[in-house]
Amino acid sequence: FYWEQTGIKKEIMKEYDFIRELGTGNFSVVYEGINKINGKRVAIKYINLKKFQSEPVKFHLQLNREIEILKMVSHENIISIQDIFYIDSEQQLFFILDLADGGELYDKIGYDRPLLNELEAKYVFKQILEAVLYLHNRGIAHRDLKPENILFIDDKNDPLKIKITDFGLARFINEGELARTLCGSPLYVAPEVIVSRTSCTTIPVNGYGKTCDAWSLGAILYIILSGTPPFDDDTDEEMLSTPKLFQQIVSGSYRFPERNWASISKLALDLVVKLLTVDPNQRYTIAQALNHPWITSSFPSS
Ligand code: ADP
Ligand code: MG
Repeated sequence: FYWEQTGIKKEIMKEYDFIRELGTGNFSVVYEGINKINGKRVAIKYINLKKFQSEPVKFHLQLNREIEILKMVSHENIISIQDIFYIDSEQQLFFILDLADGGELYDKIGYDRPLLNELEAKYVFKQILEAVLYLHNRGIAHRDLKPENILFIDDKNDPLKIKITDFGLARFINEGELARTLCGSPLYVAPEVIVSRTSCTTIPVNGYGKTCDAWSLGAILYIILSGTPPFDDDTDEEMLSTPKLFQQIVSGSYRFPERNWASISKLALDLVVKLLTVDPNQRYTIAQALNHPWITSSFPSS
């Protein structure tokens, strides 16, 4: 594994001060840090490998993929990695990442009422599409696109500038190849991802490709435009992994309630439908989405 290479740096405390906690995920804690030499602020993602004792090989392989992909990508809307530290005696791994401390897109959803207007939503969504197109063109599926993993960089000149982060579930999926792992967040997971693991449906698939990301983006667009998720309108946490939610997803049972969608343009709604298409072969690709008239036109129109 990458962190077992000789020469990997160990003395993070000599190079960085830890300032505050920025956020947590399933397997990590992310801190703001300052480079002691040049004073630059960074994000430090801390992963404790001891936590993976239940299934170490699986997690270590995935972590290795996360590093490989982070080191390879370079795009203005994707968080990049600057350095890696590993303290072997403590099994502690640290990624030094670009800092994006303007909050998560998640904080801009609002409850039942979107906090971004349609033009702002378009501006944010286009950047997400560009980042994901870059990944897909390199054979990378992110597999965990959701508002929690899209961060604002807090640029005064460009307050809605975003970067996508968290390649903790990302992998290469070559043309003609299929992935099978059921992963991602239940609210944003594509039907074929669910189906590849369960036999609950009629869609004949035995795996999935990069298009699973296009579905997740459809769910993200739905939620930022309307303030509500497409498939779970009661906020019951219990429901999030139930067969009922998965059943709704695989059958594509979502609606556009007048209450939330009355003021949204028909074009925006059309792009949501093109992305939230159950059959992955009929679904819009990211490139098609970037050419959709809602994205290419400057102003909301109906
Ligand atoms: P996990 O793989 O455990 O889900 P993430 O990479 O998603 O970890 O990071 C967890 C949280 O930490 C994010 O949701 C976000 O709030 C915060 N975070 C992650 N990376 C950065 C960053 N580069 N700048 C600022 N905050 C970040
Ligand atoms: Mg995360």
